[in-house]
Amino acid sequence: MSDNPFRDLPSVTKVLNTPALLRARERHSPETITAQIRVALDAIRARLVASEPLTLNVDAIAADVLASLDTQVAPVIRSVINATGIVLHTNLGRAPLHEDAARAAYEAARGYLNLELDLATGKRASRQGNVRAGLRAITGAESATAVNNCAAATVIALRAVAQGKEVVVSRGQLVEIGGSFRIPDVMAVSGATLREVGTTNITRLSDYERAITPNTAALMRVHCSNYRVRGYTKSVELTELVELGRKHNLLVIDDVGSGQAIDLTLFGLPGEPLVSASAACGADLVLFSGDKLLGGPQCGIIAGKAALIQQIERDPLMRALRLDKMTLAALEATLLLYRNPAKAIRDVPVLRMLTTSPTDLKRRSEAFAAWVREIPGVTVGVWEDESFVGGGSLPDVSVPTTVLGLSADGLSETELASRLRTGTPAVVTRVQDGRVLLDLRCVFERQEAELLEAITLAARK
Ligand SMILES: *Cc1c(COP(=O)(O)O)cnc(C)c1O
Repeated sequence: MSDNPFRDLPSVTKVLNTPALLRARERHSPETITAQIRVALDAIRARLVASEPLTLNVDAIAADVLASLDTQVAPVIRSVINATGIVLHTNLGRAPLHEDAARAAYEAARGYLNLELDLATGKRASRQGNVRAGLRAITGAESATAVNNCAAATVIALRAVAQGKEVVVSRGQLVEIGGSFRIPDVMAVSGATLREVGTTNITRLSDYERAITPNTAALMRVHCSNYRVRGYTKSVELTELVELGRKHNLLVIDDVGSGQAIDLTLFGLPGEPLVSASAACGADLVLFSGDKLLGGPQCGIIAGKAALIQQIERDPLMRALRLDKMTLAALEATLLLYRNPAKAIRDVPVLRMLTTSPTDLKRRSEAFAAWVREIPGVTVGVWEDESFVGGGSLPDVSVPTTVLGLSADGLSETELASRLRTGTPAVVTRVQDGRVLLDLRCVFERQEAELLEAITLAARK
């Protein structure tokens, strides 16, 4: 190295013309490359000023520049292996789609489709019409439509049928679902006025009845998806609410939230409200999410009386909240799986994961643990535990499961979990009592080899 170390600092042009960065021009613009080279050279200059001993090699500098550029263009969103056991994990995108639904979204995305065209007549058709039959089939309602999510469904339904009027809701049902979905706020956005009745734990039919005024438009029930009121409690059954609504000529709106279309109590799952039960009870409008227990894409479904659905679809807000072509395609494909409920339970990923028998899960976990035991430096135990259906959306509903408890020599449990999370593929786990817990319930069989590889890499010193 010469006496003046700055003299060895290559010029921007010299770095730009290295073979690595000449090839990089396919992926990055010359301006971006030049800017990144300046950043790298400035950093080197600062280190030289600090008298750090450095060997300056133009190809090494180019390699660093390229690595920085490539991280900038890597998508932040990527696939994750969900080893948490939480089937509907909001932070991990809730319901994974069935292959048919994923493919339908993919095909819709990459080409043209008859989104609003009746191919038989050549005339314009409603995009909602594509999913109406499937939604009617699972809900038993006269008609149905879909919007961006259940929060949107609530806003547009209330706006279309109760704007400027009062809607009666029990105090015990003024839920916050998280992410700022609070019934009072949603009601305010819709332009309807919330009329709270009863107390947190007790609401009687007479409370609803006393709250009815000439300005009342609807009675609304909201399912307590993410909490329970226990102990000395009383709430009003939907049938009673429907009867009261009929008596006073009021609409009854039922926000069931998780949208269970097939009775899962047969599989030992606690009873979430069935979407078909609401319509059968006589609710005028039933609202639920498409990406919770239905196992479809993110959307909000509104099922009910045909005249009301028409009114909702004619609302100007519909244009802002309507589904895009990919979601519509995925929803239609998901609903087709429900034509045969037994097949839906086997095939819809959310339903398959939830109804996996504890014995099968245990067998699978033990087989996987045998592979993990082969990894040097890794200790693994297998035991029974609980997994939760939905992180924020159904935290109260749990199912028995089997977990693998991992530890790696020389790594704390948080370090191991962090390495798994930041590796490729990223693996999200639970950390509990000094171990990293893996629950295979939500790990697809196609991901097992990758998961094993990820554990091997994370445990490596
Ligand atoms: C989850 C939930 C919502 C919100 O649904 P999104 O699809 O997340 O907007 C609304 N109401 C209830 C009762 C819910 O459980």
